[in-house]
Amino acid sequence: MINTDICIIGAGPVGLFSVFEAGLLKMRCHLIDALPQVGGQLSEIYPQKPIYDIPGYPEVKAQELVDNLMEQIKPFKPTFTLGERVDHLDKQEDGSFIVTTSDKTHVHAQVIVIAGGLGCFEPRKPALENLEAFEGKGITYMVKDPETFRGKKVVLAGGGDSALDWTIFLSNVAEKVTLVHRNETFRGAPDSAAKVFDLANQGKIDLILSANLKEVSGNGVLDTVTLQDKSKVDFKIDADYLIPLFGLSPKLGPIADWGLSIDKNAIEVDTRDYSTGVERIYAIGDINTYPGKLKLILCGFHEGSIMMQSAFKYVYPDQKLSFKYTTVNGVNAF
Ligand SMILES: Cc1cc2nc3c(=O)[nH]c(=O)nc-3n(C[C@H](O)[C@H](O)[C@H](O)COP(=O)(O)OP(=O)(O)OC[C@H]3O[C@@H](n4cnc5c(N)ncnc54)[C@H](O)[C@@H]3O)c2cc1C
Repeated sequence: MINTDICIIGAGPVGLFSVFEAGLLKMRCHLIDALPQVGGQLSEIYPQKPIYDIPGYPEVKAQELVDNLMEQIKPFKPTFTLGERVDHLDKQEDGSFIVTTSDKTHVHAQVIVIAGGLGCFEPRKPALENLEAFEGKGITYMVKDPETFRGKKVVLAGGGDSALDWTIFLSNVAEKVTLVHRNETFRGAPDSAAKVFDLANQGKIDLILSANLKEVSGNGVLDTVTLQDKSKVDFKIDADYLIPLFGLSPKLGPIADWGLSIDKNAIEVDTRDYSTGVERIYAIGDINTYPGKLKLILCGFHEGSIMMQSAFKYVYPDQKLSFKYTTVNGVNAF
């Protein structure tokens, strides 16, 4: 069991910055995200896009902002569980919560902060008959730890940046990498596509274009992927792993089942402190809604600072909160 003061669900920019605001009040944070990396939409959807409306930064690339946020919160030593979805919140008799993830990680916290953005990014899955039977038994939709694939036969499918980037990366890790794509050209970055063609020309990977996934089979665990080419001819390849990378689409997911007041896929909050209707649960960033709400990073940062002041009373019920500027008090690490 992980013990913390504040459990933050969602490690997007808003969840990350709120660690700073909690840290100033001496509250420890544990963050959980369903994605294998921090940064939310910024790292997942538009890492290289410049953002122009972050105060003090005339222009900053999305990933650079995430990296800077990580640097800014370092003194407060936040801990992370990544690649796991929060499925359950269970209220304890003393008012605290136990959070349970999809991989059965348990986190005990005095306060829950939902910074879940647009919800969980769920993988788009190929339409294969017995797909589910092999999920977790050879089929995976994200690369959480590349070492899992060391010395294995890996088939990747897709034509975007993730498929290209992981093909290039795993070509140095796996025994054999095959990339399957239904077209002749890639949607991903031209540089990465060129690298993939080079690797194929050097015989370091197998590149199969104009082909679709047709079937997966094995005796309990995956051992064969059947492909179909454009002339409808089937062929089989040996595979320990199949990684379909067809993009992710956000879904509110389990958050919808936590007894909170939901309006159009967002959690209704009280703008005095961004609390939800359930005591000790707050919602900040893109996941919340209130009259005049703007889904902007800047607004989420503001919500995080206000909400942490309110959460203080649950973490330190016997202390009085006194407000101090960082210029006066500095950033006192734990
Ligand atoms: C293309 C594009 C351009 C944009 N440009 C700008 C811009 O210029 N300026 C600006 O201010 N905003 C911009 N935005 C909006 C901005 O990205 C969002 O406002 C911001 O990402 C919200 O941050 P967040 O931390 O609230 O949520 P997110 O960034 O969405 O992060 C939420 C995280 O929560 C996780 N999560 C959700 N549910 C669970 C669960 N049950 N268990 C575990 N994890 C969970 C998700 O995996 C995700 O990583 C842009 C958005 C897009 C798509």
